[in-house]
Parts: sequence; structure tokens; C-alpha cells
Amino acid sequence: MSAPVRVALATGDGIGPEITQAVLAVFEAAGVSRHLEFVPVEMGRAVFERGDSRGVTDEALAAVEGCGIVFKGPMETPKGGGGKSINVTLRKLYCAYANIRHFRALPGVETVFSRAGVPVNFYVVRENVEDTYGGIEHRLTNDVVECKRLVSAPGCDQVHRAAFELARRLGLSRVTCGHKANIMKMTDGLFLERFHATAADYPGIQHEDVIIDALCMNLVLRPHKYELVVLPNLQGDIVSDLAAGLVGGLGFAPSANIGQHVSIFEAVHGSAPDIAGKGVANPTSLLLSGLMMLRHVGLVRIAATIENALLATLEDGVRTGDFGDPAREPVGTMPFAREIVSRLGRTPGAAPAVPVPERDTAPFTRPERPRINTLIRTFTQVVSHHAGCDVYIETTISPAELAAHLERLCEHSPFTLTMMSNRGTQVWPSGSVFTEVVDYYRVRFELRNPAELGRYGQSAAIALLNRIAEKFPVTDFQPLKVYDGKPGFSLAQGQ
Ligand code: NAP
Repeated sequence: MSAPVRVALATGDGIGPEITQAVLAVFEAAGVSRHLEFVPVEMGRAVFERGDSRGVTDEALAAVEGCGIVFKGPMETPKGGGGKSINVTLRKLYCAYANIRHFRALPGVETVFSRAGVPVNFYVVRENVEDTYGGIEHRLTNDVVECKRLVSAPGCDQVHRAAFELARRLGLSRVTCGHKANIMKMTDGLFLERFHATAADYPGIQHEDVIIDALCMNLVLRPHKYELVVLPNLQGDIVSDLAAGLVGGLGFAPSANIGQHVSIFEAVHGSAPDIAGKGVANPTSLLLSGLMMLRHVGLVRIAATIENALLATLEDGVRTGDFGDPAREPVGTMPFAREIVSRLGRTPGAAPAVPVPERDTAPFTRPERPRINTLIRTFTQVVSHHAGCDVYIETTISPAELAAHLERLCEHSPFTLTMMSNRGTQVWPSGSVFTEVVDYYRVRFELRNPAELGRYGQSAAIALLNRIAEKFPVTDFQPLKVYDGKPGFSLAQGQ
């Protein structure tokens, strides 16, 4: 027998330790410990409380890197201020770029759809590293804060490829991309463009895209129409919880965060502090996440055996307090695990059983540790030219007054003032007096003579910036560039 696969184990906060203990009991009974060695690591509330704002120790990070797999319970995140989410830190630090979540109707878990006989069974693949989850936030003026939303072409490519590969492995026929590219034409636009580019490599799988708001409505009205939905980070986060609601709640939603080097398996729900320590939490979500992990490391036989025992348990009406027939007495977290253990080797009666493969697949081997940060790239042959700059200014003067100052300031530069916007809405050269303004303007300068594109580098724009900075507090500066002849900047609303 090959050496056991090492898995970093973080039990988490709140209900984390209870549900982890229950899942490990099922694993133990099913013989998982012959194949996996769990390495306990310290992360979460206790680490935050010791003053470490990362919420995770150096030893834990070293263990995660050594194992390449993390199995974790939910962790508490301070709201508003305080330390950052450990979950997000781990996903980002180790580029676990594809967050795969499976939502399906389970026997014994009644929902409006199960009552109506509507089958629900689909995957959400959420981009896990970029978007507003960069957490790049600043206070810009007295009244304005910003969050920078970064979307990269290789980041999009990684998650779209993961989505199509998953669809191929599972034999799914269609992949849907959710987005808001009608409004965020550049960020969501790139996510959508790379979706279609990736789809071209999978001619056997249909692909379609849908605007996120319509997707949410369709998921509630017709969830059976979807097989796999791929989404940007924040939208994927929200849609995942919506999807969990369709199949009976957060207690039934597993999640795998897949990366090149480290993959993280965790429940979708949080630490549920209101029920922590009571022994009543539902361990199903973490167990299903554990099954995704077992399959990830090749233990497909054991995963199928446990899954069938879980389905048989649910079908028999065994339930924790958060779901099922209220006329039946609920059981606690550990008794629920014991009910699953007692059914190991059984298959569900009415619900379709999961086929148990003859043998496990090839054992997991941890990828080589990278020696330096890996540069990921998509577009390598682009020709770009400077076309001007956007300068962000803190001021409370009126648009007309500000424009008069700025037109004087740029007089002897290659640039002319072409537009001013406030909160993204154009207020100069035209605009509406009804547009309320705040103390933060974007002012745009473009080449006075467009035929001079390519003549000036960034220093000309920076020279103008310096002149402006002598008169106004500057909060940000953005060079405007044209890439392969296409503007790399958006228009203002109303422009
Ligand atoms: P939550 O912990 O998911 O809990 C929301 C509610 O869902 C709970 O109050 C409970 O409802 C129910 N619930 C969740 N998991 C359950 C389970 N296994 N069994 C039974 N009921 C369950 O969300 P939250 O209260 O918004 O967040 C609490 C903390 O968790 C926060 O610090 C948050 O940042 C963190 N969080 C962590 C993760 C993660 O580690 N991956 C994910 C999300 C949130 P009842 O009131 O009906 O009992």
C-alpha cells in the first residue's frame, strides 16, 4: 500500500470542531485512516485573539504547503474592521482559483422543488482569487471610499478551464457563464470574453451566458435548467448561498477550492455561533466536502460508499434539527454521524445510489513546490500606447469651476480636458444639474492631437499630474492606454 496522503486539518470555530469530529468518525469507520494522515493545524479565532491578524500560524502555513490539501471547518471572520477572512487568505495565498460547489436535492430534505417534483442538481464554479476579494480598499476623501476590482485574463482562463474540465469529467452537456458585462464592460466583459475563448476548446460542450440578475431569477424559477454555472468571485459567492437555499439550506452545500498546488475542502456555511457547542449542527455539508476531497485524492470507492450510506440515512428520515420532517425527533451531530456509520455498505432504496467503482483511481501526488512565484499570462504580444490620463481629485467646488482651473493647468501640455465625472456620471462638458455630486471627481485628459498617439510616454501625463497636484489634492492617477488600437478605459455614464 502507498504511503498515506497527508491532509492539513483545521477544525475551525463555532460549530467547526463538532461537525469535524462527526465527519472524522464516519471517515474512521469507512477506513479512510488507512489512506489519509490528518495533520492538525492551528487557524481561526484563537490565533486572531492572540493578536495575529492573519488568523493562521506560520506552522500551519508550512503544514498546508507540505500537504497540498486542507480539510477545514468554518472559521469566524471579524466584521467591518479587524483581521481578514482566513478562508479568503488561504484561497488567495495558494491560488485555489476554482471554488466548486455542488447543489443537489437530497432524499429526506424537503424543499419547494422536491415537493413539486422538480429535480435540482447543478454545480457552481466561482472564481476564487480576484474581483473585489482583492480587498484593495482605500478612503479617498472625507466622504468616499473605494474597492478596486481586479480581473485578469489568465485568472479568468484558469477558472473557465476548471469549469469546462469539470463538465467534461462529469459528462455534463452545458456550461453557463453568469456576469454583469452589460454594465461592467471591461471587468465582467473580460470574464465573459475569456469564457467564450475557453469554450472554443470544448466543442462537445454547449455554452451560454446570462446576466447575473436574470440568472438569479431563473435559478429560483427553473433550477433544473442548469448543469454548471461559472461566475466571478463576488457574484459566485452570492449565487452559491442562493443555490444552497434551493436544496434545503447551507447544511447541504459542499465546497472544494481547487488550485495548482493547494486545494481546500470546506463546508459552504460559516461557524453558526448561535448553535455552537450544542451538538445540534448538521455535519452533512462538511461530510460532502470531505467526499470531494476523497475523490480528489483518488479514494473514489470509499467516497461512493460513504455517500450511499449518507443517502440511505437521509432517506430513512434521520435528521438534525435544521431540516426534515418536524414530526420526527431530530438527532444531534454525533448521533447523526453514527447513523451514517451504521449504514456503511448499504445503498439508498428509492433515491438513485452512487455507483461504487471497482477500484480507487491513481493516488494523489503533491505537485512540486514552486521555487519562485509563477507568472501566469494570456496576452503576450499586445501593442499599447499612452493616450492620456484620468486624475482623481478631492474638491467641493462646482464642476464648471473645477473645469476652468483644469483647462488652464493643461494649457501647455499635449493633453486637453475631455471629460469630468462624479461617481462615474459625466458632469462636464455636459451633464445634468440634477446630478448630485460628492467631494471626489475623475477628470480625464486626452491627447490634444489624436494623431500623436504613440508619441508620448507616461512621463508627459505625470508632468501634468504634478501641475494639478500643486493646486488640488490628488487621490489617484490612472494612465489611459490604447491596446492594439482599442481604448483600455471605459466611458463615463452619459458620455
Ligand atoms: P453561518 O455561520 O453560515 O450561519 C447562518 C445560519 O445558518 C446559522 O445561524 C444556522 O441557522 C444555519 N447553519 C449554518 N450552518 C449550519 C449547520 N451546519 N447546521 C445547522 N444549521 C446551520 O453564517 P453567519 O452567521 O453569517 O456567519 C458566522 C461566521 O462564520 C462569521 O464569522 C462568518 O464570517 C463565518 N463564515 C465562515 C465561512 C467559512 O469558514 N467558510 C463561511 C461563511 C461564513 P439557525 O439560526 O437556523 O440555527
